[in-house]
Amino acid sequence: MRGTIGTQDEPLVFETSRPGRRASSFDALDVPAAPADAIPEALRRKTSPLLPEVAERDLVRHYTRLSHRNYGIDLGFYPLGSCTMKYNPKVCDEIASFPGFRRLHPLQPDTQTQGTLEILVELEEALCAVTGMSAVTFQPAAGAHGELTGLLLMRAWHAHHGNDKRRIIIPDSAHGTNPASVTFAGYEVATVPSNANGLVDIDALEAMVSDDVAGLMITNPNTLGLFERNIDRIAGLIHGVGGLLYYDGANLNAILGRARPGDMGFDIVHMNLHKTFATPHGGGGPGAGPVAVTAPLAPFLPGPRPVRDGDVYRWGVGDDRSIGRMHTFHGNAAVLVRAAAYIKAHGREGLHRISERAVLNANYLAKRLEGTYDLAFPAEPPMHEFVLTARAQKAKGAKAMDVAKRLIDYGFHPPTVYFPLIVDEAMMCEPTETETPETLDAFATAMIAVDREITDAPDVFAAAPTTTPVSRPDEARAARDLKPRWYPA
Ligand SMILES: *Cc1c(COP(=O)(O)O)cnc(C)c1O
Repeated sequence: MRGTIGTQDEPLVFETSRPGRRASSFDALDVPAAPADAIPEALRRKTSPLLPEVAERDLVRHYTRLSHRNYGIDLGFYPLGSCTMKYNPKVCDEIASFPGFRRLHPLQPDTQTQGTLEILVELEEALCAVTGMSAVTFQPAAGAHGELTGLLLMRAWHAHHGNDKRRIIIPDSAHGTNPASVTFAGYEVATVPSNANGLVDIDALEAMVSDDVAGLMITNPNTLGLFERNIDRIAGLIHGVGGLLYYDGANLNAILGRARPGDMGFDIVHMNLHKTFATPHGGGGPGAGPVAVTAPLAPFLPGPRPVRDGDVYRWGVGDDRSIGRMHTFHGNAAVLVRAAAYIKAHGREGLHRISERAVLNANYLAKRLEGTYDLAFPAEPPMHEFVLTARAQKAKGAKAMDVAKRLIDYGFHPPTVYFPLIVDEAMMCEPTETETPETLDAFATAMIAVDREITDAPDVFAAAPTTTPVSRPDEARAARDLKPRWYPA
């Protein structure tokens, strides 16, 4: 028998169960007990539910120990490219949990929810200012949901104008949700290749553009972290055949306060408030993927939408051009309040500094790593994230996955690996603006040390990571054969 400090095998809470142990106690009844037949016989359970019987102390320790196995942005650096794992200021959580927000019910009459409506109207104005758009829907619950909303808006637009269009063009570097959303919305995916510098191949695009192109979906900086210099020409080509431009704004860190999708020619933008605007993410919790559009597309947005009438706020209903609801009620309201708090706390100046530091941090880290790992596209300066290739490391005996696993033993969450798909042995790093130079230096030192181990200590890679509860699970099996529930023997 040993204690629990440092042990890795935490039993299931069911296995610690002992009959009669309780983590709660109730006062004696001060009302008459219900008669035995209050619930009809047919509806009564025949056996007691199988619940763990555990004392409060053991319950607290069990879940606290489990929580210590979790890695999150509040524990350390999280350079997961494309995911924007930046530190979320706690003040935003605090404000979102004010009773005035927490206790609201979406069916309360407008007269009782003026403050929240005012915040939503102001958030819409702020997001329009950031994106260069005219109107926003807050309904989509996440980025991919925003993409679907945006594509349904495109469909409604084309249907309204009698356009018969079937294809949506997407770069081959795109986030996986883009082609999935296009297919879901009933369109065909047409893939445009990237050129040797990691930008859209304009000649290939020109050859693909025809009257049946409903639109183009892209992000800028693109999914390789590079700014599409030809965005004007791209927009001209798509608009030239009556198509619409969709901006995947999951991550706005690179352009906040500096460049606007609206000015680049985009018609529709979704944003991930849970990446750029202070809602923690990564654990599958609630997010928000509001969609912003230009004025001509506004009537097609889902409704109702918050509106200001003089000093009064209300839910405005649109007309029959609206694509209809994408979410119950008004979306994930607490996430919206966090975003509003974040934007207000930073102000215009602060948002400007976010993009400055996000890009500076990415470029600093890229420079520190450049001599050891190859940049996948060295010809273009990275923006808020950059993609390395571990091709040279693979030739020495450790693939991107091995480097990533070993980094964990150095106490760092690895970068995104094997994405974007067009880069061999991809390692995509996004340091974000919230990290100090000391953290970036420590991470670079660890990355360089891991590279050195490939020749100096090649044996360490087979077992790495050795500092985690689980070392190298069979990831395909873990996803396909997931067993989240315990069944009694
Ligand atoms: C994260 C991300 C998405 C999807 O957002 P979810 O909220 O996870 O659905 C889409 N596009 C890009 C570029 C992303 O980084």
